Amino acid sequence: MAFERMVASVLANETASYILVAMKKTDRRLGMDRDITRRDFIHDISLASLGLALPAGMAAHAAGGKAIPVGESYPPVRTGMRGSHPGAFEVAHALAREGKKFPAPTDLDETYDLVVVGGGISGLAAAFYYRKRFGPDARILILENHDDFGGHAKRNEFHQGGQMRLSWGGTMNLEYPLFSDEVNELMAELGVDIDTLLEGYHFRYGSGPKGKHALFFDAETFGRDELVQDFSFRAGRETDLDDSIDRFPIGEESRESLKKFYARRDNVFAGKSADEAQALLRSISYTDFLKKYGGLTDEAAALFIRVTHGYAGVGADSLSAAECIGASVPITHLLGSPHLSGSGATDAGGDVAMFPDGNASIARLLVQALIPAAAPGADASNLALARFDYSKLDEAGSPVRLRLESTAINVANRNGGTSTTYVNDGRVLRVTAKHTVLACYHAIIPHLCPELPESQKDAQKYQVKRPLLVTNVLLRDSKAIDKLELSGAYCPGRLHGAVWVVKGVDTVGYSHDWDDSGPVPVMFWGSIAPPDSSVPVKEQHRASRALLLAMSFDDFEREVRTVLDGMLGPAGFEVQDDILAITVNRWPHGYAYGYLDLWDPEWPEGKAPHEIARRPYGNIAIANADAGAAANTHIAIDEARRAIGELGGR
Ligand SMILES: Cc1cc2nc3c(=O)[nH]c(=O)nc-3n(C[C@H](O)[C@H](O)[C@H](O)COP(=O)(O)OP(=O)(O)OC[C@H]3O[C@@H](n4cnc5c(N)ncnc54)[C@H](O)[C@@H]3O)c2cc1C
Repeated sequence: MAFERMVASVLANETASYILVAMKKTDRRLGMDRDITRRDFIHDISLASLGLALPAGMAAHAAGGKAIPVGESYPPVRTGMRGSHPGAFEVAHALAREGKKFPAPTDLDETYDLVVVGGGISGLAAAFYYRKRFGPDARILILENHDDFGGHAKRNEFHQGGQMRLSWGGTMNLEYPLFSDEVNELMAELGVDIDTLLEGYHFRYGSGPKGKHALFFDAETFGRDELVQDFSFRAGRETDLDDSIDRFPIGEESRESLKKFYARRDNVFAGKSADEAQALLRSISYTDFLKKYGGLTDEAAALFIRVTHGYAGVGADSLSAAECIGASVPITHLLGSPHLSGSGATDAGGDVAMFPDGNASIARLLVQALIPAAAPGADASNLALARFDYSKLDEAGSPVRLRLESTAINVANRNGGTSTTYVNDGRVLRVTAKHTVLACYHAIIPHLCPELPESQKDAQKYQVKRPLLVTNVLLRDSKAIDKLELSGAYCPGRLHGAVWVVKGVDTVGYSHDWDDSGPVPVMFWGSIAPPDSSVPVKEQHRASRALLLAMSFDDFEREVRTVLDGMLGPAGFEVQDDILAITVNRWPHGYAYGYLDLWDPEWPEGKAPHEIARRPYGNIAIANADAGAAANTHIAIDEARRAIGELGGR
């Protein structure tokens, strides 16, 4: 019961928890007993051999006997608990959290020019740049702890319901206006043409050809289910909002404060210099700004907290008002603009291009370039349909080898080169190389390389990743969604702050037309609200991470069923029958830690933690998005290029 209460307080909020008990739907009513594809992929035999146990939630799930067979053989089609899936992280947690001492390694008869730790975008790009620098005969081993490559670039592929349907389990936006020249060059080398992607991009986060944004107030939190169509907290309709606001199931004073707020057009900082206004915007949280300058009640301002969860991995009560200008939430109408949010605002926060499986396509193109035998004939024109042959990823004769389910536990400078120890299938193994690139993330590096200078390890520990959550649910059809004219909805009271209908990324061989009413993925997107958002932001991240890891698959399933039933039920959606599959992509180590106005000081150039953390150490260099202190795919690529440039000659 204690755990249920803890999750309940996160899903709703403390004051509404009595309503939650009264309004909770039974598991039977929600169809929790229905036989859907919800497989979890578990490697408990190899973990047991190291004395490592499954997390409590997963063990209970397994013991419950509910769908724990070994997953499909092709990783992208695996459903159930993905992202940081059971079996991927236990070795790293034993090392970092428990200080576990592993048995002496067995030396493999394998010598490389480069070993890369981490098969995400940064690690794959590092291998690509290494070959460019040292030539195609360079021997490279990439170690990745998950059962798929790509890291946050995760392809979710569904085949239930007769047609392949794609969605993204992690990074999706290519923020092309922000690309460096070098990232543009890499895209060109991989055959990625942004203009072609834009031609097929109709998803547009609710601004596409069909459907509109909505707000969904749920009964457990707000007393009744209420879907307010054609209304968004971000980049939506700007006028005639009163009728919509009248339907919000909140107090009358709060509704009136919202109506006045949306109707205003003034400049609350009139008479102040631009610098003074900027300083004020950077020193106040967005929700405090809404209350102090926007006149919102506490209750009304709290509705906006989860809006930034997916965008920033942080609630709007912990982001500054200045930071929220970029998040397309209403603010600029109080700063002298006629518009609620910045010009060109989109729900993604800016101009983006997209593949149907998100930036998993970038990872796949990199793997294809590094190991052509894994996907012969695949290129940027047909990539969406290409099936990769995972048995070719780690072939002895290939200059580049990608070894999945392999967790590095030690990396050291040795004998003019490096040694890397890792755990695979319960075995502790060691390989040597000329160079090693750490393309994992900063927080694990002090445990992999205890010999690093203390100041560098302290800097690495500073960057605490932001937990993220992307849950894809395949629906039998989109009839209820079409009837309600939805493209997505914000859910201010729920675990995932937003849900999107995934259609309209019609490119690289794939298309899912908005008029097709067949099986459709919906993507639940967000973070985990921390139990206490008044504590420093890094403590929030750690507490959210603990909650995320404690939640079982059933918790996520119950959550998405509750939302879909409340939101779509009135339009004919049958929650017990109309859900075909669920894939939970949990990312306890999600967005790279970028510095925030309210929580981090300003450092002189060269002295910021990420700059100290990423310094090369002998023959070891450090890539990954943390090294750029920015949660972006293109930054992960830039950091890979920098890291390879820092290595000495071969
Ligand atoms: C849900 C989500 C959505 C995002 N959306 C966007 C977006 O739309 N646009 C955008 O530009 N950016 C986005 N990002 C950020 C972007 O994903 C990242 O910046 C980028 O993909 C990070 O790449 P990386 O290689 O540095 O790290 P990762 O993707 O984390 O890859 C590192 C890999 O190393 C592995 N690893 C760690 N330790 C070890 C070890 N000891 N041994 C072996 N392997 C190890 C990790 O498990 C991981 O698989 C998103 C991130 C998340 C989580």
